[in-house]
Amino acid sequence: MASQAPVGVSPDASARALAAEIAAYAARNAKSFECFRAATAVMPGGNTRSSLYYEPFPLTIAGGQGCRVRDADGHEYLDFLGEFTAGVYGHSDATIRAAIVSALDQGINLSGQSALEAELARIICDRFPSIDLVRFTNSGTEANLMALAAATVFTGRRKILVFEGAYHGGVLSFSNGPSPVNVPHEFLLSTYNDLDRTLRLIEAHGKELAAILIEPMIGSGGCIPADVEFLEALRRAATAEGALLIFDEVMTSRLAPGGRQQALNVIPDLCTLGKYLGGGMPFGAFGGRRDVMQQFDPRRAGALPHAGTFNNNVVTMAAGIAGLTKVFTPAAVQALNARGDALRTRLNDRCRERGARFQFTGIGSLMSAHATDRVIQTPSDAAGADAGVKALFFFDMLNRGVYLARKGFIALSLLIGDAEVDHFVGAVESFLEARASLV
Ligand code: PMP
Repeated sequence: MASQAPVGVSPDASARALAAEIAAYAARNAKSFECFRAATAVMPGGNTRSSLYYEPFPLTIAGGQGCRVRDADGHEYLDFLGEFTAGVYGHSDATIRAAIVSALDQGINLSGQSALEAELARIICDRFPSIDLVRFTNSGTEANLMALAAATVFTGRRKILVFEGAYHGGVLSFSNGPSPVNVPHEFLLSTYNDLDRTLRLIEAHGKELAAILIEPMIGSGGCIPADVEFLEALRRAATAEGALLIFDEVMTSRLAPGGRQQALNVIPDLCTLGKYLGGGMPFGAFGGRRDVMQQFDPRRAGALPHAGTFNNNVVTMAAGIAGLTKVFTPAAVQALNARGDALRTRLNDRCRERGARFQFTGIGSLMSAHATDRVIQTPSDAAGADAGVKALFFFDMLNRGVYLARKGFIALSLLIGDAEVDHFVGAVESFLEARASLV
């Protein structure tokens, strides 16, 4: 990533400060290093989930309670990462635990349908405006793969419009250009929030376009919200061309009771879900218009197959139902996101008061730190930020007992209260003060 030091600051200054922090981190986390070293003997890079790796080695998280996690060396952190949005319930929600235990008591791996999947499907259909019919998967990645398959078959077309900087799963990643392990769809890449370029592309490929796949807010690519006018124009263009509009709401569905689609009143043809909706258990779902989803109705001649041994596993189904009906109710969704909005306002006020080249983008309970004061509308606006300062932010937060993603991603859980928010704001203030010459 390009490194852009503030005027008058040597780019070496942040590199030197970072080297010192990395050395101190390594010294403080000997047990995590031991775990990492043992893991490298049996997994490439000691890792089975690329996004969790960072230099010099990642912390080994030994356990969690409420909104706190504990690493292998016994350090405790406030968890502001919230399992990249899947962990909205924290680490030990009693209602979800009870639902899981009750499901276990009824027996697992039942080799058949249960009443649970229809119950969870009913809750999801009632909650998200675009979803007439839904099907479950084990991950958001799978949900997107199935939604794209549904769209290409339904339209009889091959091309899929996606956006630079977007992430729809490990095999559907456009974070740093198309990933070499992406599935071989005929992708067209446009610029997020760039309506002119996007409409030109749609016009050029219109009758070959099966779907437009978009996150209503780019999530792991830096919490960059889509302009509502942009999404409305995509809605109109998709309809005009006979392509399907697919919202990837794997992350954004938690930003309003009925997802970002409901908050903006832009209703896609298909929508994909994941993360917290399975109560913290492995989960994904794709759903939408009845005529598109009915392709999977096994009673129909030529029905499309959609399989998955664990699609209806009772643990996920039970945890999801309990979470949505008893814990993450519409009122709780609103309250959590209001808390996030208030937190982000406080953080950005502190950055501005100090004239810092630092900001927090996002919506509600999801946000991302950026080491730049430039307005961020597209992933390339964020790409010129100072990578060294961003890394320092991560280590400084750890030093102050705050755990977040190495890339600066933050997702609040329901367990983050006023005291935790105040602690985080204090930690960011200390960072801005301690690193004043760099930010
Ligand atoms: N879409 C989006 C927007 C995501 O953020 C993610 C995961 N971070 C996925 C899809 C993939 O979900 P999963 O990790 O469950 O496969």
